[in-house]
Parts: sequence; structure tokens; C-alpha cells
Amino acid sequence: MKKLAEMSRDELIAFKAAAQKEYDALKGKGLKLDMSRGKPNSKQIDISNDLFKLPLDGNFKMDGIDVRNYGTLDGLPSCRAMFADILGCKTEEVFCGGNASLTLMYDTIAKAFTHGLLHSERPWSKEEKIKFLCPAPGYDRHFSICKTFNIEMITIEMTETGPDMDAVESYIKDPAVKGIWCVPKFSNPDGIIYSDETVHRIASMKPAAPDFIVMWDNAYCVHEFDGDFVPFPDIIAECRNAGNPDMVFEFASTSKITFPGGGVSCFACSVDNMAYMKKLIGMQSISFDKINQFRHVLFLKDRAHTIEHMKKHAALMKPKFDMVLSKLNAQIAPLGIATWHTPKGGYFVSLNTMEGCAKRTNLLAKEAGVAMTGAGATYPYGNDPKDSNLRIAPTFPPIEELDVAMDVFCASLKLAAAEKLLG
Ligand code: PLP
Repeated sequence: MKKLAEMSRDELIAFKAAAQKEYDALKGKGLKLDMSRGKPNSKQIDISNDLFKLPLDGNFKMDGIDVRNYGTLDGLPSCRAMFADILGCKTEEVFCGGNASLTLMYDTIAKAFTHGLLHSERPWSKEEKIKFLCPAPGYDRHFSICKTFNIEMITIEMTETGPDMDAVESYIKDPAVKGIWCVPKFSNPDGIIYSDETVHRIASMKPAAPDFIVMWDNAYCVHEFDGDFVPFPDIIAECRNAGNPDMVFEFASTSKITFPGGGVSCFACSVDNMAYMKKLIGMQSISFDKINQFRHVLFLKDRAHTIEHMKKHAALMKPKFDMVLSKLNAQIAPLGIATWHTPKGGYFVSLNTMEGCAKRTNLLAKEAGVAMTGAGATYPYGNDPKDSNLRIAPTFPPIEELDVAMDVFCASLKLAAAEKLLG
């Protein structure tokens, strides 16, 4: 098959007519399919049903603590130790919270605004302007947090090894730049693992703002679906060793290990940050849900056991990612109208169309009954300057539906590209 860019106008017209026919036939099926959000399928959720069947035998104590009662704000020591094992940091650096790491992220930023962070000269609400570095494509909910606090977002291009660090190092000279979002392992949506050099450069930054914060969202820390667990540097130690012990907050949760919205979340930080945060958090809660922390420790145990558990997710996820990639390789690659990453973990396939085709592809897919994350959502302010990035989330639909949804997506992409080239 010829690449679209190499076709004559007549060939393109014929190609477009064929793409339109294919698209119309799929649209005529009246489909209603969803490839929009990175949610586990119900079969993946079933993997953790034994959490409900734990033999508790009337023993509600862990670490000598009655898990049913108030107290122990920073979480059960065993749960903190479990997350420390998973993240590679120390137990005293971990705070176990409630059901969502996103809440902890939001709360950290909110505290910066109301009270300031450990090294803030004043609360951020008293600053004239707050700016954040936003590697993109990135996670739309990070950008929503910035938007809700009126934080100016600066787009940083993602590279194959993580954020463009030359740009980052240049922007942090501005004292109004107070932070950066990072999804360091299997980034959302590109599935990129930051290189050791990138991690080191981030940990060694010398920002002008004394209270600059690295929001290290390690949402996919054990989420390999293809191949063995990939060990990853401990950012808390990296920052400490680089003389920036208080610059980072790391976040994680069991949302995509056990139950999304029904798991346990945590943050990890220096012990000084921990003492500062505990004083503030102690005003909003006496303690978090230790019953769920307890169940999760009994169920997941430690990193080695959690990695074994994640292999059950992988067995269900890999065929779906393989399906998406094989459809793209067969139907799109020969035409040269898009590029994509081949992730080994995380929840997404990130695809870049020819410039100016993402919104149109998205709309065509939607009109043919396939819901996808909105074009632009992976960029600050919903503004993808090239109108090119699309996020495919293969996990939620059953594989039979994914099969059809990908045909619709490929047909939409072909039609959008042909329309674009024909002007
Ligand atoms: N961070 C990233 C990068 C995500 O992709 C997601 C969910 O998709 C979350 C955080 C949400 O995590 P939680 O359920 O712990 O709030």
C-alpha cells in the first residue's frame, strides 16, 4: 500500500471514497462502544474479590492497633511498610491515606495555597502568579487541578526519555514556577519510563522557587502488562542525595491493583515534609480508613506478592493492547498517517495523527458510536498545538467490542487524513 502523502490527487480521491464507504458501513451498525477512560474491565476487578473473603477470625488488630477505631493518622505501619516496599523508599517516608491518590495530590496543592509548603515564604494564594510545568501529552486530571487553582500551565514536550529536561531547567529559573507534574513510569498516556538520567536531572534541579514541588505521580509503579517488573529509582532517595530532600512528593495507590475508587492511596516524602503535612492533615481527619488498609496488607502483603498479583491483570490486558497495536500496524502503519508508542505497561496507547487530524478523527469515531478521550485533553487547557494526540484506552471494553471499536477508529483516522490531504 502506498503512503497517503505519496498518492496523486486521483489516488487520494479514490482512497477517500473507499475510506468513506468503510466508515459508513461501520457507522450503520449503530454501535455504542467506549474506549474513553483508563478503567479496568470487570474481569480485572474480579481478580481482587478475595479481599472480601479474608479469614479475619475476629482479629481486627494489626501492629497492635485496633483497625476499627480512630487513630494512627499516617496509616497502619504495615500498610506504610508495604507501600515503602513497592516504591523502594523508607516506611517513615510513607503516609497512607484514603481511597484515591488524586485526592492527596489535590490536597497537597490546596495546602500550598492555604498554608504554603514547608519552604514557602508565604501561602501560594498570596503570590501574584503561580506557574506549573506540565509535560504533555499528560494526564488531564493533573491539568484540571491546575485549572481549578488558576495555576498557569506551561507545556513541556515529552521525549522518549521523559520530559524535555533542557526546557524544564530553563523554566525553573523563574521563581513563579512552583512545580512540575511527573508520571515517571508508564506515563499517561505515552507509556514512557523516564530514563535514569532524566530522574537524576529532576532530582538535582535547583529551582529559583524555594518551595518548588515535584508532583511524582507513580500511578503505574507495578503495572507492567508485557514482560517482567522493571525496577525503578526511588525518587525520595534521589532527591535527598542531590541535596533536595524536601522537593518531592510521590503518590501511588492500589486503584489499578485492586479496586479503583475502593483501594488505598499513599504519598511519600521526606520526614520533615511528613511532620509538616501531618500537622495540617490532622486538622481535617482523625485517621483514614484503616479497615481497608488492613485488608489490603493481608491481601497484597508486599512488593513481590503484588507483582505476582499484577501478572493476573497482565494476562487480561496484554491481548487487548496486542489487538490495538496489531490493528494499527495492519491498517494505519502502511499509510504513514500516524505514529504511536508500543507500551509495556500502564493503561494507554498514545497515538499522534498527522497534524490537524486528531479532533476530526475523534468526532468521526464519536459519530460512529465510539467514545474516546476528547482530542486535546492530554494537553494543558485542552490545547494540543498540533491537534495530533489521541489517547486510546483499551482495558475497559471486552475484547470483542475493542475489535470493532478499533476498526471504527482506524476508519475514522483514514477518512480524517484523506480529508486533510485533499484540503
Ligand atoms: N494518576 C494517574 C497518572 C492516573 O492515570 C490515574 C487514573 O487514571 C490516577 C492518578 C488516579 O489515581 P487514584 O485512583 O489513586 O486517584
